[in-house]
Amino acid sequence: MSLLKIDNLVKKYDDTEVLKNVSLEVSKGEVIVVLGPSGCGKSTLLRCINGLEEFSGGKISLDDKELGKDLSWRNARGKIGMVFQSYELFPHLNVIDNILLGPIKSQKRDKDEVLKEALKLLKRVNLSDKELAFPRQLSGGQKQRIAIVRALCLNPEIMLFDEVTAALDPEMVREVLDVILELAKSGMTMVIVTHEMNFAKEVADKIVFMDEGEIKEISNPKEFFENPKSERAKSFLNIFKY
Ligand code: ADP
Repeated sequence: MSLLKIDNLVKKYDDTEVLKNVSLEVSKGEVIVVLGPSGCGKSTLLRCINGLEEFSGGKISLDDKELGKDLSWRNARGKIGMVFQSYELFPHLNVIDNILLGPIKSQKRDKDEVLKEALKLLKRVNLSDKELAFPRQLSGGQKQRIAIVRALCLNPEIMLFDEVTAALDPEMVREVLDVILELAKSGMTMVIVTHEMNFAKEVADKIVFMDEGEIKEISNPKEFFENPKSERAKSFLNIFKY
């Protein structure tokens, strides 16, 4: 059974359909990388899955429970972690308070238990020494690793990554991608939007190629990068000189 099931999702802004009957299934432990030209709807798809955008048609289910129906969006958000390009850390809170806020305020979990978990996660991303730092004192790569820890501390069943390295200086990209790779190896279910083609090839179980609001191809990475089916995918890969 799929952990995440998207059925004929339609999203319109005014009269423009930016997602046109998108259907996708993600199994537990699977890593999906969504590729496609700018403006094709990748970010909108992730935002719909996380309930940040209302959609115009179709349905999304997690663990066979329809979101917004069998499972409230509020409860779903605790199960679906999301990390953004722009970190979205609270500037007035230090690292540990940024991490603890969601689990304690929204999930009403025990502070000591969450703190233990948060410290373990900080160690996992090599940032134990930044527990009391404020976001302004961190590099972009460090901020993004904290944002990942913050999302993980909610114990999500699936993680969504929306171009999380796009705003980083090149030397910081790798440290963030390595954290995501390690998560993939640990069995985390993930949907990743990225323009890092080598990383996509390395981390993905499946590549989903989108264009103009539609899924055009779903294939394994080797097949997609070596022998893309559609002309659009071929020209997309040419841009990256792949
Ligand atoms: P991608 O992530 O693939 O670059 P997006 O999901 O950001 O694409 O955007 C898909 C389309 O939806 C684009 O044409 C974009 O201009 C449009 N769009 C995104 N957000 C809005 C919005 N808030 N209002 C109107 N149009 C939007």
